[in-house]
Parts: sequence; structure tokens; C-alpha cells
Amino acid sequence: MTNYYNKDLYKVLNLTYEASKEEIKSSYRKLVRIYHPDVSPQSADVNKFKEIKEAYDVLIDDEARQKYDVLHGYFREKLEKEVNKTNHKNKYDEFIKNAKEKSQQPQSFTKSFNDALDSLFKNSNVRSKKDIKSAPINGSDISLELSVSCFEAISGTNRKINILHTEPCPNCEGRIFINGSKCSMCAGSGIVSLQKKINVKIPQGVKQGAKIRIRNEGNKGLNGGKNGDLYLIINIEKNPYYEIEGTNVLCNLPVTPFEAVLGAEISIPATDGNISVKIPPMTSSGQKLKLEGAGVYNKSKTKKGDMIVTVYIKLPKNFSAKELELYNELKNLSSVDIRRDLKNAKKSIN
Ligand SMILES: [Zn+2]
Repeated sequence: MTNYYNKDLYKVLNLTYEASKEEIKSSYRKLVRIYHPDVSPQSADVNKFKEIKEAYDVLIDDEARQKYDVLHGYFREKLEKEVNKTNHKNKYDEFIKNAKEKSQQPQSFTKSFNDALDSLFKNSNVRSKKDIKSAPINGSDISLELSVSCFEAISGTNRKINILHTEPCPNCEGRIFINGSKCSMCAGSGIVSLQKKINVKIPQGVKQGAKIRIRNEGNKGLNGGKNGDLYLIINIEKNPYYEIEGTNVLCNLPVTPFEAVLGAEISIPATDGNISVKIPPMTSSGQKLKLEGAGVYNKSKTKKGDMIVTVYIKLPKNFSAKELELYNELKNLSSVDIRRDLKNAKKSIN
């Protein structure tokens, strides 16, 4: 439902809140002639027309208009005027007193408000009694981006997150007025923004951009309307060593030159604790090793992917003099020309 109670719908139709039904109709007709795309293409404004139509739909419907007036504070002004006109000041005081007393009881505002209005209309001839219903307004959804580390995405995690959501104002219970004056807590909006901490579970193997829906944790509904949902949009932070691809976990594993030559057994972080990777002797950069079942589950949790380890040789930042001496010795010992094929690259095939 549109959040129309923040807008002055009368102003949209160039009217005051005292406008009669006839005045609303006639002003609407005039504005349609100006802004409707089919009527006057030269002065048409689709958004303006939409706004006008929305205002008209609310104000022409008795029930919707009364509800709007109550939410917007016009109802009280009208009531005060009418009461003053008919010299029923005491009735108005009684109405406010009733509303106040009833709203303090543990029941919904809607009911107490209606009761108070009923008793006012029953006992006076101010205007014909009308059943006033506060239509339920559903709370809107909240979308929030949530950054998780690559490993949180791989292993799954529980997170405590802070969300800012709106609720009916606890001071005036969403009814804007308290004792006839605008509620100070919500400044007359009927709603307040609150921080709330909630625990969320991020499933193992969550994907970049995944939308996780948490029911009921969006903005709170009004008048018994449904609460909105919270959507978490997952952003997986880049990690230089790990990446998720489908159900596989890709790992870039740095090894020293001697580990590449001699082989090694290296322990690395994995989905559940650590996992041991066996580097065979004479492993070159770019060589891939598959660790079966060390990936993440598929969506139906029936099959686990693999971890694909890509080895690359990484040199330490500094070598000691002794190490350099030994490398020199190795260089002199080596007789293999590993670039022989490269040198022949320019040769033609025949
Ligand atoms: Zn309030």
C-alpha cells in the first residue's frame, strides 16, 4: 500500500481539508484535463497525474478519507471546528478523555478509537454515525547488503546484525495524537525508527549476490497489517587464496621452490577445520590438485563439490647469503635447458 499519509493529498488536489465531495470531484476533473496524457498530450505529466489519481482515490472514498484525516491530524481539526460550531465543547473533551482511557487498556488502538468515536456520535447530532475502520497497512520489506568473508561463505556462519526498521510509535501506538496534541516521540508520524539486533544464519556455500529472506523482520505493519520481510543481499569479500565456484572451492596455494621440487604435505584451512594437501615432488606452478569432497554442498545438500588447489611457486622476500650461495651452486649444477622449446617457437612447422 502506498505510504500516502505522509503527503498532503488535499494540497495535491488544490483543496483544503474541508472540501466537499463535489469540490473534490470538480477539482479532480480540472486537473485531469491538464495532466492526463490522453486528454492533453502537450501538458501531460504522467507522474503528476498518478499523484492526483492517488489523492483522488483516497479522498473520494469516505472510509479511506476518514482514515487519512485521522492519520494526518485533519480529523481532529474538523471535529474541533464542528464541535465548536455546535457548541459541544464538552463532547469533544469527553471524546479525548474516552480515547485516552481506552487506549491505556491493553487492547488495540483501533478498537478504542472506534469506541470513543461511536460514543461521541451516538450522543450528539454533530454528524451521522459512521463506522470508522482503520484498514491494516502492511509493513514494507527491508533490503540490506551483508558482507561476509570468503570463508564465512564457504563454511557458513551465524551473524548478529543491526537493522533499522520502523514500528508503530510505542508512545501513541501509531495514532499520532496523545491527549489532543501531536505525539512528541514520533513527531506526529505515528511511526518510529528503531535499531534491532537479530541473529541470522548464513548457509554454507552461499553465493555472491544471493538474497536471503528472513520473514517478518522487515518494517512492522500497522493496524494488524502484516510485517514486511528482511532481505539480506550477500556480498562475498574477495580473498587472494580462496574462491567459490559452484560447489567447488578454488584455492591458490603458494609453495616454496624446494617444496615444489621435493614435494610436501601442507595443511590448509578448509570447510571443516584444516585439510592436508599432498604436493608431489617436481610440481610446477599452475599444476592443479583435486581434493574430492572438500567443496561445499549443492542446494539440495545431497552432493558436495571438490576443492581444486592450484599450486604456484612463491619466493620469500629475502634470502640469506648462505641460501643465495646454495642457489648459485644449484645453477652451476643444472645442465637442462628448460627454454629449448621456447627458442624454437618461431620455427615453422615444416
Ligand atoms: Zn507517536
